[in-house]
Amino acid sequence: MAITIKNPNEISKMRDAGHVVSVCHQQVEAAIAPGVTTGDLDEIVRDVIAGMGATSNFYGHHGFPGYICASVNDEIVHGIPGERRLESGDIISVDIGAIVDGFHGDSAWTYAVGDVSDETQRLLRDTEDALYAGISAALAGRRIGAIGSAVESVARPLGYGIVEGYGGHGIGREMWEEPHIPNLGSPDSGPMMRPGMTLAIEPMLNLGDHETKVLADNWTVVTADGSRSAHFEHTVVITDGEPEILTRRLVAVVE
Ligand code: MG
Ligand code: MG
Repeated sequence: MAITIKNPNEISKMRDAGHVVSVCHQQVEAAIAPGVTTGDLDEIVRDVIAGMGATSNFYGHHGFPGYICASVNDEIVHGIPGERRLESGDIISVDIGAIVDGFHGDSAWTYAVGDVSDETQRLLRDTEDALYAGISAALAGRRIGAIGSAVESVARPLGYGIVEGYGGHGIGREMWEEPHIPNLGSPDSGPMMRPGMTLAIEPMLNLGDHETKVLADNWTVVTADGSRSAHFEHTVVITDGEPEILTRRLVAVVE
């Protein structure tokens, strides 16, 4: 499938879908605490999506049984929410998507549970930095490879394992559209970015090696060496200037 350019009306719908995803993250972040289960977070997101008149793009996708992907500690992506109870010192990557009027939003964030180690705090901060470096490189007239190159330029000098088998993607009428967006590589690789392209940018960085494996549930992707992993993702639209973040985090307004 070719890369699609969205018109202003379609981008408006993606902004609405992104807003639903942002509200979900706000509610999840407020709920995360030691003792909460990943299934509790899944129910919160199910209810927010329904309450805002949106639908889930995760639930039932190839049979996925959750409204979120909940990936704890050494789990990278596609963790199944359930009975697991969060403990202080854990990290949890929560990946959330929603559909409004047929258009998709997709955003992941890694949250600390209670008190986490300095090393883990750095992992979260650096992976978030890598996300924003990637977003800053998402400019019309540059190639898709500029995004991964920018992510790699943050992650590589700090010694993180950069996950290669999974990455960003086009998004719009489908959750996964062309092109694939690697989190490393040459800035001169891949298709040219143009205004109206909508992309999910999502670095995944490991404290250890980059190698991954899939658990027996056939969903959960973990680091092969058991090291911790972080995952930060936004859906953006390429413009004539800076990219617009469609799933931008909500900030409390202080009057
Ligand atoms: Mg996602
Ligand atoms: Mg994604």
